[in-house]
Amino acid sequence: DSFHDVEMGEIIMCNINLSRYTRPTPVQKYAIPIIKTKRDLMACAQTGSGKTAAFLLPVLSQIFMEGPGEALQAQYPIALVLAPTRELALQIYEEARKVAYRSKVRPCVVYGGADIGQQIRELERGCHLLVATPGRLVDMMERGKIGMDYCNYLVLDEADRMLDMGFEPQIRRIVEQDTMPAKGSRQTMMFSATFPKEIQILARDFLEDYIFLAV
Ligand code: AMP
Repeated sequence: DSFHDVEMGEIIMCNINLSRYTRPTPVQKYAIPIIKTKRDLMACAQTGSGKTAAFLLPVLSQIFMEGPGEALQAQYPIALVLAPTRELALQIYEEARKVAYRSKVRPCVVYGGADIGQQIRELERGCHLLVATPGRLVDMMERGKIGMDYCNYLVLDEADRMLDMGFEPQIRRIVEQDTMPAKGSRQTMMFSATFPKEIQILARDFLEDYIFLAV
């Protein structure tokens, strides 16, 4: 029961210590090794379970360990995290800043109800890990402000809430757009508190040969 059980690299281990996380929560303990083996994941976990770090730590660790590739140079999103609300998007972004601290990876966040021009300028400064609410991201994509050619990691956080809020068409637009790598060539992780029929269908459509985890 230690973050040392899985090889995550020096920067991540250092930033885990700075966050004062002494041991992994159950969802972290089980999800991190699965994500590190590059398998797709459907995880049922509640808010407060530590699910944010459960995907941020292994995804950023993979990005660091793969080295400064083309996408890091190009400043395009390598990882995309979709979240239902501005509040959750901001929380994920803050945690991403802690995990990516003193690394070359630059996190950005975009959400509705705020000035889009300023968010576009932030993106244009370079963005490797993008946290977004679905509506605002569709808006940005339609303006041609963001391509997903390099997006090797896709996370749908609180997928059940996103569906409850009516975001399914936007989510499908984003995931099924031309520039997004197809399932199987990207790694996809879905987190949801519940696992009703609609989430099972999304999992079938977006995930490839996935592991199901319930904590
Ligand atoms: P989350 O479920 O991702 O919203 O996380 C809930 C809270 O737990 C956040 O404030 C995290 O910073 C904190 N947290 C996440 N992982 C750990 C850990 N391993 N040890 C202590 N606190 C944690």
